Amino acid sequence: MNKDGKLIVFSAPSGSGKTTIVQYLLKHKELNLEFSISATSREKRGIEIDGKDYYFITLKKFNRLIKNEEFVEWEEVYANNYYGTLKTEIERIWKLGKHVIFDIDVIGGLNIKNKFPKQTLAIFVKSPSVEEMERRLRNRGTDSDSKIKERVIKAEKELKYAKDFDVILHNNELDDATKEAYQLVEKFIK
Ligand code: 5GP
Repeated sequence: MNKDGKLIVFSAPSGSGKTTIVQYLLKHKELNLEFSISATSREKRGIEIDGKDYYFITLKKFNRLIKNEEFVEWEEVYANNYYGTLKTEIERIWKLGKHVIFDIDVIGGLNIKNKFPKQTLAIFVKSPSVEEMERRLRNRGTDSDSKIKERVIKAEKELKYAKDFDVILHNNELDDATKEAYQLVEKFIK
C-alpha cells in the first residue's frame, strides 16, 4: 500500500453534524480529499446512491469479505447492520494521489487510528449535549422514533471514547466548527 497519503477521520455520535463538516471539507478542492465510501449491509435510504454514499452489499457478501480479510475495519454498528472500510478503498484514493476522509463511527475511527497511527488525524465531533443531538436527529426527519432512541443510547456510550481521539471538535455553532475543522486538516496535511 502507498504509505504517503494521509487519513482524516471524523467520528461522532449521529446528529453531531459530522457529515455536514465532512461535506464542507470535500468542497474545498485545495485540501485534496476524497471520501472513503464504506461498504454496508443496511438498506439504501431515499436519495442515496450506490458507489457514492456507500457500497450497498448483502449480508452474505459482507460476511465473505470479512472472511477474506478485505476490511481495514468493520463493525455491526446497529443490530444486523454492518459497516466497514475496505482495504481497496484506501488504496483507490491513495492511488489518485489524494488524502482519505472518513465519516465513520467512533470505534471504527479508533481502529483506523490504531492501524495507521502516524498517518491519521482522528477528530471527534461533539455536539453540546445528548438532548441537542436528539433534537437534531428529529429535525433531520430520516429516522423513526425507535431508531432515534437506539442512536441516543449509542451516543451516550460513544462519548466515553472522545478522549482517545487526537482532537475533540466542539460543534456548538456549525459555522465555527467547519472553519476549525478546515484549519486542523490544512495543518495536518502540510
Ligand atoms: P448511517 O446508517 O446513518 O449512514 O450510518 C450509521 C453509522 O455508521 C454512522 O455513525 C456512520 O458514521 C457509521 N459508519 C459508516 N461507515 C462506516 C464504516 O465503514 N465503519 C464504521 N465502523 N462505521 C461506519
